[in-house]
This record gives sequence, structure tokens and C-alpha cells, in this order.
Amino acid sequence: MNDLAFPDVFMPAVRPPESSQGVALWCAFRGHQILVAEIGDTYCLPEWDQFQRSGLTAQHELYLGTLAQQPCYAVELADTVEAPTGMTFINLRPLLFHLSREMFGVAGRAYQLISWHQQHRFCGCCGTPMQQDDNERVKRCPACGLSCYPRISPAVIMLIYRGNEVLLSRSPHHPKGMMTVQAGFVEAGESLEEAVRREVWEEVGLGIKNLRYFGSQPWPFPNSLMIGFIAEYDSGELNVNTDELETGDWFAWDQLPAHIPPPMSIARSLIEWFVAKNRAEFD
Ligand SMILES: [Zn+2]
Repeated sequence: MNDLAFPDVFMPAVRPPESSQGVALWCAFRGHQILVAEIGDTYCLPEWDQFQRSGLTAQHELYLGTLAQQPCYAVELADTVEAPTGMTFINLRPLLFHLSREMFGVAGRAYQLISWHQQHRFCGCCGTPMQQDDNERVKRCPACGLSCYPRISPAVIMLIYRGNEVLLSRSPHHPKGMMTVQAGFVEAGESLEEAVRREVWEEVGLGIKNLRYFGSQPWPFPNSLMIGFIAEYDSGELNVNTDELETGDWFAWDQLPAHIPPPMSIARSLIEWFVAKNRAEFD
């Protein structure tokens, strides 16, 4: 493969290069927290030499691939280790606001693959210790042949609009006061389109039309892939299902709630798309 073809893209791989550790990025996890280097009031992922100087020992090491040709590793640390001077452990989610989208993607990928490694040490069928395949990101059982790939849970996220109004709601697990677009996990055997229509019907009792794809975002909390859609209101009266949502309502594009999802989230991108669409039409 021509390694100049995709200079800024992450290229996954299973086998590490012979010698490039000097500049490699290390995503080292203590439980759910990642080790980061502190730079003023922001953070970055440590490189290999910083990690070496820290004196921390990896319990397990996993090669991820390259970001802009820089090798990236995921590391599992013992639960008892302390962060060395100039570094700290933080939860993954706040890192969204400190790293580039690409760099955060690497950290999210590392988090999911370390979790996958931890949760698939033994075969789920026969209990034999699993073995990592040399060429592919899969663990195989040497006794019964079961293969386990890293798990990804698709979730649909959709902006529903009616003229110049958008439907926003909040569920109990959202940050207090935040209003956002609808979302939900795809069920086994369901298409993405079916999942969107079912979620909208279940949560707010509405029918939709003109459903179209918007974009997607990996969301490593814990293994989601958010698949974004836009749709227009078609039928029904707004009827918020209080088993799933705390509240929900229509909001005019220029009178949105004060607290909406943060930048970098696909929910925010959907809302910004709607505002830009209306600004172009009405201003
Ligand atoms: Zn087995």
C-alpha cells in the first residue's frame, strides 16, 4: 500500500512496525481513565519516550495502527498505578475538548480495544483462554474455534423538523438541563431506517417522512457508532413517552434552548445544520 496516499487518516493494523517507538503515541488506561500529559490547561497523548520515562509498566500492549504515519498503541495499566509528574489520569469524555478529532478517535479506538481484550480473555462457549489472531483484529478459541471481533453497537440519532421548528428532548441520562435530538440503539434484525421510525414513534408518537442520511460518528461510551439522520414531521400529535424522556417539545430555529449538546458531537452538528438551513431561508 502507498503510505503517502492517506497522510492524515488513521490506518488500522495488527502488527507493529519494526522500529518506530521513538515517536509512537501511547493510549494508556487505568480502568476507565487515560493517561495524558499536562500542557498548561490542556492535555495531549504521551509519546513513547514520555511513557518510558514515567516508569509505568504495561500489563498488556496492543498495536492500533498509524495516524498520519505515527504508530499508536493501546496499553492496559494496573489499577493501582499513580500518574507520574506532569501527567494525570482523566476520563475519556472530557478529552473531546482537548484533542483533535483524529487524535480523539485514536484514544476512543484504544479504549474500546482494551475493553474488548479485557472482556474476551476466555471463550464464551467453552471457557478456554482465547488467542489473538496474528493477522486480524479477532480473538479465536483454540478448542472450539469461536471467533470474537471487537463489538460495535450501532445507534441512530435523528433530527426531526416541522417547518422552521425542530424537535428537542431530554432523557434522564442526559446532563441536567440539556435538550437534544432523538437517539436510540438499533435492535437485532432491524434496519437503520426502521430503527429511526421506531424510536421516533416510541419516544414521541410521531410519524416521519423524507428520511435521509446525515453522517456518522464513533462514540466510544462504551462501543457505539452513532449514525445520524434528518427527517421531516409527517403525522401525529407530539406525545412524549415519559418512560423514556423527561420532556420534549418543538423549538423554533432562532429560539433554541440555552443548553444544547457540545461541539464535536454529531447531535450538535445536526442542530447546526438545521440552524444554517433556516438562516439561509429566513434571513
Ligand atoms: Zn471455545
